[in-house]
Amino acid sequence: MIKSIRDLDLDNKAVLLRADLNVPIKNGVITDNTRISKVLPTINYLRSRGAKVIILSHLGRPDGQPDQISLECPLLGRENLSLAPIARELKGILLGPHCVEFVEDCIGQKASEAVASMRSGDILLLENLRFHKGETQNDEAFARELAKLGEIYVNDAFACSHRAHASLVKLPRLLPAAVGFLLLEEIKQIDSILDAEQKPMMAIVGGAKISTKIDLLNKLAGSVDYLFIGGILANCFLKCRGANIGASLCYSDKLDVALNILQIAEDNSCQIILPMDAIVSVNGMGTRYAPRSLADISARDLICDIGPDSIAKINQIMENCTTVLWNGPLGVCDDLSLSVGTAAVAHKIALLTSKGKIKSLVGGGDSMEIINKLKVQEEYTHLSTGGGAFLKYIENRSLVALEGLES
Ligand code: ADP
Ligand code: MG
Repeated sequence: MIKSIRDLDLDNKAVLLRADLNVPIKNGVITDNTRISKVLPTINYLRSRGAKVIILSHLGRPDGQPDQISLECPLLGRENLSLAPIARELKGILLGPHCVEFVEDCIGQKASEAVASMRSGDILLLENLRFHKGETQNDEAFARELAKLGEIYVNDAFACSHRAHASLVKLPRLLPAAVGFLLLEEIKQIDSILDAEQKPMMAIVGGAKISTKIDLLNKLAGSVDYLFIGGILANCFLKCRGANIGASLCYSDKLDVALNILQIAEDNSCQIILPMDAIVSVNGMGTRYAPRSLADISARDLICDIGPDSIAKINQIMENCTTVLWNGPLGVCDDLSLSVGTAAVAHKIALLTSKGKIKSLVGGGDSMEIINKLKVQEEYTHLSTGGGAFLKYIENRSLVALEGLES
């Protein structure tokens, strides 16, 4: 069993809470505060138990270079990656009299002075962990600097817990450590859906890069009853089966990987289903889109989405399943009006779940964005906050940051 914050004596303790507050920010404005709201139950619990809550997070990929709080970063061609706007957001959404302070560094004198002045129930947000190279380098000395600031460590950053970074892997070994409610809920939900072995089970995997999904596909091909492969991933598999994909993107160096996955599926009685038709960008111009059976795709067409027959096939199989796991859009998803296949599948999963016919489990940043845009998020059994962490957890049923946190 993993150690929960409920197992800790928190009264008047300085708690280092590793959260994932890596929210999207445009021109200094937070455009989606979901990640902040997800960690509120843990923050509120810690405060209610009299802890001093010191929040650690990263934002973006600053490569160990600090940004000034007040400066934009036009020369770097990216947003300022200070956590200052997140401190303001936290102040706005937390109820109660306690204050939220912010310090412009996550280690060192300023940080330790700010911690020293905290009272029970106070919240302190430290600056972006990744302003120090030691974070992504999983550096022991950097972890020791962080550890000086607290007495207890709590990880509630599920979406980062597949990363061997100092605040996630080294730090929990230096202090009494446990996990927060968001992380506990993720594991409980994913475990309960996968452990129930409610068969038949269908997995739907789409997206762009096959290299990031090989382990997941290997795992699923060996365990589920039906595996639908869509998105750019599918092109590799279609090519292996000698199908026509026109000028569509295909990672040709990964054909052996695809063949191996097909073999694993065959050995484990997993039925692999590939798109049988597509929406193509006619002649790859991006101006005219048309449904095509695979046989009718011309040499210059680009596959952008799955077609109506593929959607019907997925729907028909899902009707007979009890569990559906989904990761990755089945076509281009930058524009919702073009994501017809992905939207159809998202709606169908939502409908079957709300009728109690299936349990549904989804992870992945782009898949989640579509579900949110379609406003069907309430219908699903569990939407993971993780992308890479979700895939890794399904593959291994553990994450590097959780090792050693068992009670
Ligand atoms: P997730 O974040 O849900 O795990 P991925 O990051 O793997 O998903 O893949 C999402 C990306 O794949 C999106 O940018 C989407 O536009 C792209 N994509 C999926 N199918 C296609 C396709 N047929 N052609 C071009 N891009 C595609
Ligand atoms: Mg993605």
